[in-house]
Amino acid sequence: MATILIIEDDDIVRKLIRKILMQEGHEVLEADDGQAGSKLAQASHPDLIVCDVMMPKMNGYQVLELLQGDRETKTIPFVFLTAKSEKHDMRQGMQLGADDYLTKPFTKNELLGAITTRLSKLSSLQKKYADEAAENKLKLSQLAGKDPLTNLPNQLALRDVFNGILERKLRAFPGKGAPHQLQSKNLVSVFCLGLERFSRITETFGYDLANLLLKAISDRLKTTVAGAGSVIRLTGNDFCVLLDPLEHKQEITSIAEKLVLAFKQPFPIETQDIFIAISIGISLYPRDNLDIGKLLRSANKAMLQARNLGGNQYQFFTAALNVGKSNLVTLETDLRYALERNEFEVHYQPKMDLQSGKITGAEALLRWYHPQRGAVSPVQFIPLAEETGLIEEIGEFVLQEACKQLNIWQTNGLKNFRMSVNLSARQFNQLNLHQRLSRILIENNIDSQDLELELTESTLVQNSEVAVRRLKALKTLGLSIAIDDFGTGYSSLSYLQQFPFDKLKIDRSFVHNIHANRSNSAIITAIISMAHQLGLKVIAEGVENQAELEFLKRHGCDEMQGFLFSYPVSAKEFESSPFVSASFESDLVQ
Ligand code: C2E
Ligand code: MG
Ligand code: MG
Repeated sequence: MATILIIEDDDIVRKLIRKILMQEGHEVLEADDGQAGSKLAQASHPDLIVCDVMMPKMNGYQVLELLQGDRETKTIPFVFLTAKSEKHDMRQGMQLGADDYLTKPFTKNELLGAITTRLSKLSSLQKKYADEAAENKLKLSQLAGKDPLTNLPNQLALRDVFNGILERKLRAFPGKGAPHQLQSKNLVSVFCLGLERFSRITETFGYDLANLLLKAISDRLKTTVAGAGSVIRLTGNDFCVLLDPLEHKQEITSIAEKLVLAFKQPFPIETQDIFIAISIGISLYPRDNLDIGKLLRSANKAMLQARNLGGNQYQFFTAALNVGKSNLVTLETDLRYALERNEFEVHYQPKMDLQSGKITGAEALLRWYHPQRGAVSPVQFIPLAEETGLIEEIGEFVLQEACKQLNIWQTNGLKNFRMSVNLSARQFNQLNLHQRLSRILIENNIDSQDLELELTESTLVQNSEVAVRRLKALKTLGLSIAIDDFGTGYSSLSYLQQFPFDKLKIDRSFVHNIHANRSNSAIITAIISMAHQLGLKVIAEGVENQAELEFLKRHGCDEMQGFLFSYPVSAKEFESSPFVSASFESDLVQ
């Protein structure tokens, strides 16, 4: 039954309608003037409104006009009650958007008839919208998981495909425990495929021919792998193959050999025969790792080894390929002293709202100035800090610095500005993170809404159940969560939906030359609309030129960050940058 709001100043009429509706089992809300009625409608969103025309304070037309102007109340069916003498005015009511009218005096049947018609129309409309939304969501998730050029699953679908194989494996060998504990002899193999000298093809023959060749390559991969597994196009000319479980390594090598052999035949494209050699690296689940991201990285190392050995061959991953660590040892020692020697500095890169052009906040990015090596990239030292555990101290320093800076800027008048801080996996899993964060927020007098934490997908998927719990706990503090580098972690958005977060940050590899890259632009537009359907905001990172910016703006991306707007800069430079002072002129007290 429905909730119906009666707005009527005549007590007798209102009570009569209430009685009739309550007898039918409806819930009834009442107001005896237009102003109280519109307030009640906005607060309670009834399923239908029955409203008199002539009333004190606000007449029925004014109520309808007010509710029509509000997105939340606009769609509520609205039935006017009108005296005979006002009937000629009803055209005005219908033009304003009323759904029906009843002329006083009316019978019980007339009243119920009008209400039932409106309510059933509303519910069929709601069903239609819900069906359409579900259908769109499905289409979008399929599109986002599919490479439009080759029709193969893409990078975003990798984890889903992989999990699908593991589930089938589990079903085939039911029992207790995780899939990797069962039948570990049944290895799932990950092939990383390297196409040799492909970039030269693009340079020589252009994009159109390169695309035709990519299609032919994907067809050949599909026919060669046939029913033994799935082919996935990761990016550009990077493909990978996931093989269904096989018991003997011999079966895996025979598929690898078949693939190498298949590439010994040329690809006839237009008038030419094009030869492309292939190198294959193979890693095995569960032997080498359990995580698909790491398995792919190992397979990639093995592929580079196969390429170094001359190409046209395959190599299995071995632990010996994880070399080249000696240089890291000295770096690690220096990293241990960097904090106490004050070698770290936090820089800030502004983020911009794409519609208004205003600054929305900044990302805090750590810089290490090593006395001998000079500036060391965070790409080098953050993983090392993570591995050694030093990240806990370093990460706390960044959080503390960023919040301190935010407080200084806010005190100087900066408003509507959110600070983002990156949080590594180890930090995220720190037992007392919640307390540390709330202490930092209190000490620096920061409103938790003004702090955003950036986490990567890989941080979340490592132990998803625990991650969901930890995220929920963090969210009780009131801060917002963004998924950083989205698209590189091989998870689909539908998989990530289990995690409560607020924003998607599209990785810069997708943004690069987006206007000229058909498959990336299809992926980004699908991601943007799917994220919006899920109520998430989208920010693009690594925007370097105007064409990329225009594309993102046109497709409804919410925010951007990138060299086009500003490099990450020191706090001093940030304050004096023309962007900041222009955007906040009236707010920032110099
Ligand atoms: P991220 O969080 O994805 O940060 C964005 C990176 O993109 C930054 O690299 C930034 O300088 C770079 N960038 C921004 N705009 C552009 C652009 O238009 N084009 C290009 N090519 N690059 C752009 P940066 O500062 O080298 O940091 C690299 C990564 O190191 C960060 O990636 C983040 O994962 C990590 N990192 C940096 N600071 C911290 C920190 O305080 N804590 C943790 N846990 N990680 C950090
Ligand atoms: Mg980040
Ligand atoms: Mg990023």
